[in-house]
Amino acid sequence: MLHTCCVDVTPDPGAAGDWTAPGTYEVSRGVFRLPLPLPNDGLRAVNVYAIAADDGLVLVDSGWAIPAAREALDTALDALGHTLADVRRFLVTHVHRDHYTQAIYVRREFGTSVSLGAGDKGSLDIVMTPARAPLKEQLQHLRLLGASVLVDKLMAALGPDHDPVKAGWELPDVWLQGGERIDAGALQLEAVPTPGHTQGHMVFHDTASSLLFAGDHVLPTITPSIGFEPVLSPNPLGDFLSSLAVVRGRPDARLLPAHGPVTDSVHVRVDQLVAHHGKRLDETLAAIAAGAVSAYDVAGQLTWTRRERKLDELDPFNQMLAIAETAAHLELLAAQGRVAYDDVDGLRCYRVG
Ligand SMILES: [Zn+2]
Repeated sequence: MLHTCCVDVTPDPGAAGDWTAPGTYEVSRGVFRLPLPLPNDGLRAVNVYAIAADDGLVLVDSGWAIPAAREALDTALDALGHTLADVRRFLVTHVHRDHYTQAIYVRREFGTSVSLGAGDKGSLDIVMTPARAPLKEQLQHLRLLGASVLVDKLMAALGPDHDPVKAGWELPDVWLQGGERIDAGALQLEAVPTPGHTQGHMVFHDTASSLLFAGDHVLPTITPSIGFEPVLSPNPLGDFLSSLAVVRGRPDARLLPAHGPVTDSVHVRVDQLVAHHGKRLDETLAAIAAGAVSAYDVAGQLTWTRRERKLDELDPFNQMLAIAETAAHLELLAAQGRVAYDDVDGLRCYRVG
């Protein structure tokens, strides 16, 4: 098949365009953003980034293993004069299926090397368990948070079990520990551990060209879910805020997120995220002071999304994320001594500390 290199590549429109529109967008010389579709419409799309190197391509993240995403990736690479056979390595920011699973499918065909942060091993081991009930651990945790009614609803919707092989769950070739320097064409990427969204989350930073491949750690228009993993950190929001401080302490860079448009400054967005969570912590504490007992109670008193929706206006999946995130705020308040809790008959009961 003949390729005319780069004929369909357009400059990245940044925040001025619809970031979800399929295509091959040049973000920086030799660095391309390839938005791929997702099966659910909540996040709308996931950005995979392709970096041109002498011996092929390095891809940051891979997309969700669904036929539409595979087709979009084939088309986007074709615009670069490449095929999936030219991808020599996937650097996956974290284990969530919209980032990881397509890499596993591609590896089955082409033997491509797949790298993932070592901190995600615990969660991956669990999701690789055959016939595990989907979201089993997360749903158990949700009961402790006071959301049993929601759990029953979700279990009815999810069905009995899942097939890890079909879903694209296999171990990576390389476990990244953090601190690795990875050659990718003109870029030298440093793998920087940023636990929070998941425990193994990695961002990839090239300081010379001021680019940060941020995965879901720093998103330009939304906040990543926190506190929703099969193996949960004792203080996921504390981890996340520490990881925001890590990237804030590094040289500023353009933000290349997994969901949303490319923007100019990681630091500007980190400051906004820190302010958001500070406000959220105050609101959470105020809800406990006003008599809320469980994370579910608190989540019901807060508003959600930029549209300030009430908890029961969200779909069940997003209600689950909202309650888990509320619990993450409560765990951090507990670690700070601002609230205390006891587990009483399978319910975590908070009070002002
Ligand atoms: Zn994601």
